[in-house]
Order: sequence, then structure tokens, then C-alpha cells
Amino acid sequence: MKINKPKGTQDLFGYQAKQYRHIQNICSKIATNFGFEEVITPIFEASETFIRSVGESSDIVNKEMYTFIDKGNRSITLRPEATAAVMRMYVENKLYADQNTHKYFYFGPFFRYERPQAGRTRQFTQFGVEAYGVESPALDADIINMACKMLNALGAKNVKVAINTIGSKLSRDSYREALTEYFRPYLSELCEDCRNRFLKNPLRMLDCKVDSENVIMKNAPKIKDYLVEEDQRYFNDLLKYLDLFAIKYEISDRLVRGLDYYTNDVFEFIYDDATSPINGMALGGGGRYNDMGKEFDGPDVKAIGFAFGVGRVMMIMDEQGINVDNENINQIAIVTLGEKAKVAGLKLLDYLRKLELKAEIDYVNTNLKPQFKMCERINADYIIIIGDDEIANNELNIKNVKTKDETKIKLTELNKYFGIKEVKENVTY
Ligand code: AMP
Repeated sequence: MKINKPKGTQDLFGYQAKQYRHIQNICSKIATNFGFEEVITPIFEASETFIRSVGESSDIVNKEMYTFIDKGNRSITLRPEATAAVMRMYVENKLYADQNTHKYFYFGPFFRYERPQAGRTRQFTQFGVEAYGVESPALDADIINMACKMLNALGAKNVKVAINTIGSKLSRDSYREALTEYFRPYLSELCEDCRNRFLKNPLRMLDCKVDSENVIMKNAPKIKDYLVEEDQRYFNDLLKYLDLFAIKYEISDRLVRGLDYYTNDVFEFIYDDATSPINGMALGGGGRYNDMGKEFDGPDVKAIGFAFGVGRVMMIMDEQGINVDNENINQIAIVTLGEKAKVAGLKLLDYLRKLELKAEIDYVNTNLKPQFKMCERINADYIIIIGDDEIANNELNIKNVKTKDETKIKLTELNKYFGIKEVKENVTY
């Protein structure tokens, strides 16, 4: 029976695999420049890690987790997101002990049992960051700035920053009360999800996709009218710093994000191209979450983070025709004449790789025709030909395919030919 990949998963090969690593490399480099260091946490965690922090009113915990009981009778969950796991790592390892600011980034697979569709898979990759130990609108703005720098460096255009504040607990409590009062008489006119959210966390009703255009939703109270002064000031300062970094943003007063742990600013990076079928898709999102440390019985940790969906970034790069496959690496092919030359060719191949050059040989064929076919197939920029004479004199014939120049050089001159570093080794066949 034919075996296929599980529903909602993807195989990445060829160009897509390169594009995936390209995104990882660019984002890692920029995060490093912004003072973040990589962390690698387990792919699975105790289920409690997510239940406590992501929250039982979130879709993730409610219906999307890949949870199973392992052979030791423990409840285990394939990580649906990283923020809770990185906080678990931080508290468990007492990384807060030095009282410093800590900035972490991660890249890897995550798992949510969702209905697969364009840009939504059951295994997906996120690149994300978390910064602990500082509560300042300047840091929040700089993190949004960093995310924009990453998209810029990847060449991705037409991405807008949508931003909102959901305030600290104080503001949120009075806002929640106002929402409860407002929505109560309309419950029968709203979808089932909204009715469930009404009971667990009415803020999440604003996030509803089904009723988003409903006038009831549009007229709902706005958080900005319930912010305590301190929260309002924090948000205003954040916007001021975004202006300083020349980040274009849009205040989106119904943006609340789907996870329960956020406090104060929340934001999303949204694809903004009205002509595109994926217009409005969120490439990433994040926000501040100052109360999570306590969920792990740790200290009070001021924290902020965001994550990009790598698959979605790939989608918009493809849509915008951004090609990352422009590595300018010369491809060398070795063609050998006869059995003895095949052995010498292998030695030469090994030497070229020591020089960090990209080289191939036809392992199987000694006839010329299939060997030249291979040169064509791999798009060789240079073809090296060796036979008995070349071996006897430690020489080689090298042809520049583009210019058609052909020369005979000594083996020891190879590095000079390619303009690379001096080699101490006395190389012979
Ligand atoms: P979240 O962790 O829910 O805040 O999501 C952050 C980003 O991860 C989203 O904006 C998406 O780009 C990406 N993402 C989340 N869930 C999925 C999924 N099921 N499939 C693909 N990408 C996802």
C-alpha cells in the first residue's frame, strides 16, 4: 500500500528547502545583531506547560493540541507554540538569577491540529524571539523594528504592522466587564464560538472570524476607552518609538490575538495586497506578556515576543517572485579517461572539497558520453579532464564552460586558478 505524508504536513525539497534555510539564516543573523541568542527546547513538553499559560479559553489548548499519554503515564504535548516552552526553560534553569536582560530566538517545527488550508498546516515552522527582564516601550518598538528588518532583508514587501493594546490586568478587567454587559443581550445573534468565548474570555470574541463584519461586533466597546493612565502612556510611547524607527503601523482596536497570556501591546504582521488571494494573511504576531513567569512558579518576568510563520513568509516571497537561489558558487565537474584516471579523479575531488569548492564526479561511468551528460545536468561552470598524461605530470586540463577557455595547469596551481587561499599541502595524484 502506498504511504503518504500525514494530512496537514509538507515535504520541502529542492528550492523550497533552500528557501526555508535562507529564511532561517537571515532571521538568525538579524536577531543576533539585535542581541538575541538561539535557544533550542524540546519538541514535546509536559501538557501542563501549555495548558497553564496559553490558556484554556484559547483554541490551541481547547481543540488543537497533539496530546498523548506516554508509556510512563505522563501527559505529553507536541509543542503548539514556543513562548510557554521558552518561559518554562527560563524558569526551570533559573536563567533569571543574574538579573540581566535575556533575549532569545528560536526556529523549529510546531504542531496544531487545525483544518489544513492555504497557509495553515498541522506541522508548521516558526521563527520567533522572546525578550525577558525589561518593560519598556522602547524595547517593544525595537522588536517590531527587528521583525520589519527581517522582512525587508528577505525582500518581502506589502506587509503592514497592525497594533493594539489590551492593557494591563487593571484595564482589562474593566474592559471585560463592559464587553460582558454589551454582548449579553446579543448572544443569540452571534456564532457558537462567540457564545463559548463569552463565558471564558469575552475579549476573544473580538477575534471572531465568523462575526467580524457583524454590526454588533463593530459597535462593541473599545479598549482605548478603558485603559488606565499608565497603560495609555505606555502605548502612546510605543507608537512614538515606532515613528522614530519609521515603522508604518495601523492601530487595530479589535486585535486581541488568540492566546490568553498577552498584556498591553499586541501586534501582527499582515500581508497587505488587495489583488492577492492571500491578502490579509498574518505572517506573524506577538505582544507583551508580563504575567507568564508566575504561571511557572517563577519570578515576575517582564516579557515580550513574536513569531513568524515561516511557511507563510515563503508564500509571499513566492508570490512576489523573490528568488533566493542566486548563490554564486562555481560548479566543477571532473571527467576522467580510463580506470586509473577514475581513481586519480576521486583524489582530485577530495582535494577540491578541501579547497571548499563545489565539485562532482561521475562515480559510475568511464565512457566520455555519460560523463559529459553529467556535466550538462549539473550545469558545470568548469570541467576538469584528466587522463594518463595529466596523472604522470600532476597536471589537469580545465575548461571554463562559459568562456570556452581551456588550459593545462599544475595541480598545485588549482587554488590560484580559482583565486582562493594558499594551500600548504604538496598535492599529487
Ligand atoms: P501564533 O503562535 O498563533 O501567534 O502564530 C504566529 C504565526 O505563526 C502566525 O501569524 C502564522 O504565520 C504562523 N502559524 C500559526 N499557526 C499556523 C498553522 N497552523 N500553519 C501555518 N502557520 C501558522
